[in-house]
Amino acid sequence: ATMPPLLSAIANAGRHGVLVKSAVVMERLGQVDAVALDKTGTLTEGTPRVTDVRPLAGSGLDEGELLVLAAAAEHPSEHPLARSVVDAARERGLALPMAEDFDSTPGVGVTATVDGRVVAVGAPARLLRGATDADSALAAVLVGELEDGGRTAVLVTVDGTPVGVLGIADRLRPDATATVTSLTSLTGTAPVLLTGDNPRAAARLAAEVGIEDVRAGLLPQHKVSAVRELEDSGRKVMVVGDGVNDAPALAAAHTGIAMGRAGSDLALETADAVIVRDELSTVPAVIALSRRARRLVV
Ligand code: ADP
Ligand code: MG
Repeated sequence: ATMPPLLSAIANAGRHGVLVKSAVVMERLGQVDAVALDKTGTLTEGTPRVTDVRPLAGSGLDEGELLVLAAAAEHPSEHPLARSVVDAARERGLALPMAEDFDSTPGVGVTATVDGRVVAVGAPARLLRGATDADSALAAVLVGELEDGGRTAVLVTVDGTPVGVLGIADRLRPDATATVTSLTSLTGTAPVLLTGDNPRAAARLAAEVGIEDVRAGLLPQHKVSAVRELEDSGRKVMVVGDGVNDAPALAAAHTGIAMGRAGSDLALETADAVIVRDELSTVPAVIALSRRARRLVV
């Protein structure tokens, strides 16, 4: 028997390295006319590296001690930034103490108890929340320097007091610019960038790939609002993301696609399709496949 067009399209998508979860999804992919891309792990490779370790003067910590505290707290986290911190500690041959009471907040960071002290690692804007004490002011200066250099800055606090800042750098995926160009011509508008990261790092990266509409500093629910706003203007929005922080937006969107290799389990389960082969350029490819199959169906 000849396979129905949508089923052959699913098989075809599979050969491109994309797992499309149903024929309904395969059909919906072709209706998409706006795309929202996550930054960390989606437009970037998601294997960031720690480039700067800056203990605050007065923290009493040296670089190694700061890294040990941060890495111990990040150890249970599956976030790409967390893995970069743990890898940096390992590369320096540092032994990590056990952390207890681990907790993580998507789009914000992690907390854990290390050697009896509560260590928090995460987004400076969220952890500092406008604090004006001397340590916070000093930390804010370091954060500004790192972000101006295009880094993602991560703040480390101990029992609520800032003790240092880590600078982390991520690389654009090799096919990021080509993908943005294809999506722009397929949908008639350039994709939107949705990120929990800081506006400076986000704007820098967006400019490199040809994205103008950048929404930064977003919590997971803000990503959902951004998607709803686009859909209110009558668009069918595809969200492409990898993190726990992207799961609500993946669910809210007309179509959600998750990055499979390093994506979180929640993102993979929530998404309508999963990019298994870790190539972003498969996104425009499956939209085109769907459009072709839909023409055959009708
Ligand atoms: P994106 O939307 O670009 O994928 P996330 O929403 O995952 O980014 O993270 C947004 C910001 O929250 C990060 O830039 C970082 O400052 C902070 N953050 C989230 N999780 C962690 C973590 N495990 N360790 C450190 N910082 C984190
Ligand atoms: Mg991400």
